[in-house]
Amino acid sequence: MRALPLFLATTAFALLAQEHAALPSKAKPHAPVSAAAAHSPAATLDSPDNPSAALAELGAGNARFVAGKRVRTLDTNHDAAMRAALVGGQAPFAIVITCSDSRVPDALLFDQEAGRLFTIREAGNAPDLQGLASAEYAAEHLGSKVLVVMGHSSCGAVKAVREAAGKPLPGNLWALQAGMAGLLESTPQDPNEDAKAYGARLEEVNARRQAQTLLDRSALLRELAAAEKVWIVPALYHLASGKVQFFKPVSVVAAAPAHH
Ligand SMILES: [Zn+2]
Repeated sequence: MRALPLFLATTAFALLAQEHAALPSKAKPHAPVSAAAAHSPAATLDSPDNPSAALAELGAGNARFVAGKRVRTLDTNHDAAMRAALVGGQAPFAIVITCSDSRVPDALLFDQEAGRLFTIREAGNAPDLQGLASAEYAAEHLGSKVLVVMGHSSCGAVKAVREAAGKPLPGNLWALQAGMAGLLESTPQDPNEDAKAYGARLEEVNARRQAQTLLDRSALLRELAAAEKVWIVPALYHLASGKVQFFKPVSVVAAAPAHH
């Protein structure tokens, strides 16, 4: 059995990002990228090659989006060249699991063009088995370095689950409740908390729980996370400001024992 350097992983996780830290302001300044350079066939060479750099790039891209200064997703003159550069393969540096909500345009809000993000979108950012398989595929076969599980403000899926309060939703919507099983039980409403504040808290807790649960559900992701080849990072997108709030990567220490 391979001994996993769990204490090292834990230390690195602790150092990565302070809770609620606004990563964009802490991220390293993005190297100046002309639109032409970003879309040249060589653009794939500038992909982050480790989890820390991958997370910093997402933060930098989001900062550009918030500031109204997108670079990578602005110039349409090089779309053909971008497609041509990607025909032979893909190596997306980040996996994004987020909600299907039309107000969460993942590529724009991270300012990343085609070939950079491997995105799984399902209402409530609660991946089903195929969503999980998609994430495993990207992490294992495409070499993605970071997996962001991103909820968002004013999430209708979280609201529906909250308002149903355990009573089955109609049609196949019950699957949303199954995907968020345990959310309401783990996070009861505070007596002094209004519905809006409670809803916002559930959105954050759901993103954190979904990220943590990936480790329990996937031996493959657990192994990659333990080896620090992939960071699994909960996040929350704020519709009004456009800001993505990143939280600490989930810790593999809390997952199932590695020995067998
Ligand atoms: Zn949503």
